[in-house]
Amino acid sequence: MASAADIQQEQLPAARAEAESLRERSRTMTSTEEINNTIFRPGSVKINVKGAFIVDPDTSTPAVGAASNLHGNGRGSPTHHETSDIRLPNHTAVVSHIAVDIGGSLIKLVYFSREVHSTDSGGRLNFQIFETDRIDDCVEFMKHLRDKQLELNGSKPGELCVMATGGGAYKFYDKIRDALGVDVLREDEMECLIIGLDFFITEIPREVFTYSETDPMHFVSPRERIYPYLLVNIGSGVSILKVDGPRSYQRVGGTSLGGGTLWGLLSLLTGARNFDDMLEQAGHGDNANVDMLVGDIYGTDYGKIGLKSTTIASSFGKVFREKTMADAAADAAAEAEKRSPGHDAGPVKLGFTESDISRSLLYAVSNNIGQIAYLQSQIHNVSDIYFGGSFIRGHRQTMNTLSYGLKFWSKGQKQAYFLRHEGYLGAVGAFLKRQPKNWGRRNSLEGMEEILELRKSFKAKEPAAS
Ligand code: ADP
Repeated sequence: MASAADIQQEQLPAARAEAESLRERSRTMTSTEEINNTIFRPGSVKINVKGAFIVDPDTSTPAVGAASNLHGNGRGSPTHHETSDIRLPNHTAVVSHIAVDIGGSLIKLVYFSREVHSTDSGGRLNFQIFETDRIDDCVEFMKHLRDKQLELNGSKPGELCVMATGGGAYKFYDKIRDALGVDVLREDEMECLIIGLDFFITEIPREVFTYSETDPMHFVSPRERIYPYLLVNIGSGVSILKVDGPRSYQRVGGTSLGGGTLWGLLSLLTGARNFDDMLEQAGHGDNANVDMLVGDIYGTDYGKIGLKSTTIASSFGKVFREKTMADAAADAAAEAEKRSPGHDAGPVKLGFTESDISRSLLYAVSNNIGQIAYLQSQIHNVSDIYFGGSFIRGHRQTMNTLSYGLKFWSKGQKQAYFLRHEGYLGAVGAFLKRQPKNWGRRNSLEGMEEILELRKSFKAKEPAAS
């Protein structure tokens, strides 16, 4: 079987002539920064996605080797909502790269593995997350993948290359390259998000779904005509991209009130130790104990402007009053204690719990994002809105808030879409960047890519002009 390096050798003669003329044309465009950012790329490997499907979670590949230990304290990998593998039954070629998307909060890792202990052909894409401040664990895991390369995907040790995107691709570039002793190729974050999303929308059945309370997970068939759409990527912060085509996108907005906000504030306000506990708490909280509702102000609906009594008028709007009352009760108890010592009135209770706080903040952040997404979709006249990013995590209340809000404000004209691999758009995009051409059934990435690759590689070989 040809290795990536062999394929590269085969491609060179044919590429040389075109590259020669490209080199001429692009000479004046070369900047020092481009040269610095460019690494010579080995040849392409086609990923055959024909017949790809999401694996039943029960039969998903367990975390490889040491990885399970890495996650022992619950901070490395989620305890539930494990991300299902994607089986690629028709992909048989060697894959010698892994991809990481290193964000402000989480590292998302994607790698391919063959079905070593099975008679089935093909392999699967595996998904792992680590908290970004546990980068060392992630590097260890990548080392493990590097060492197991032959067994996992048929490539030789030393052939591995890491496709890296997200801010951490720059911040941790030296660390990863030095620890693994392999090439680390950095890819643009926004571009990877779009490539990853396009892949999921067009290639993977039972990946994209709509959400409503009555029909919680309604899968949408892979489609060819997907543009234009809006991607609302809810990570630590939020980015909103308008996408008009495979390589045509624009970041139209965002907000700093995102997943990191929820994670940070809930870690201050509740005893929850990790994000999943926070979501769990939110699941059984009652935000009405914390939020000021229309009904709290009006005693009823405000029908004239279409507000139900249960509509949130002010997130956390009841907290001050509750807190003041609790403080007053505590002062009174202290006074009573002074007057007749030993009389224990017991602890003063607030009228809300940590779960109520979690639910309220989840609603506040999600409603805010949903509202901004709606406004952006109005401005840009787009009706399909995809929500990505690890913030969503398949959490019902989050999806319901986003979906319901969008439907309500647009009077049913706009549709929110969610994904089962919502947190991995960037990582999958980076993974697929190693397939310049014709990798998919619908050739989603065909076009300029290979020429751009060539242009970059030859620029990299040129001596810096200035
Ligand atoms: P980034 O690339 O900025 O790290 P992500 O798309 O990975 O963004 O989303 C990060 C957000 O996802 C966190 O801020 C938090 O709200 C949420 N999240 C989901 N799962 C976890 C987890 N296991 N640990 C921490 N945060 C999580």
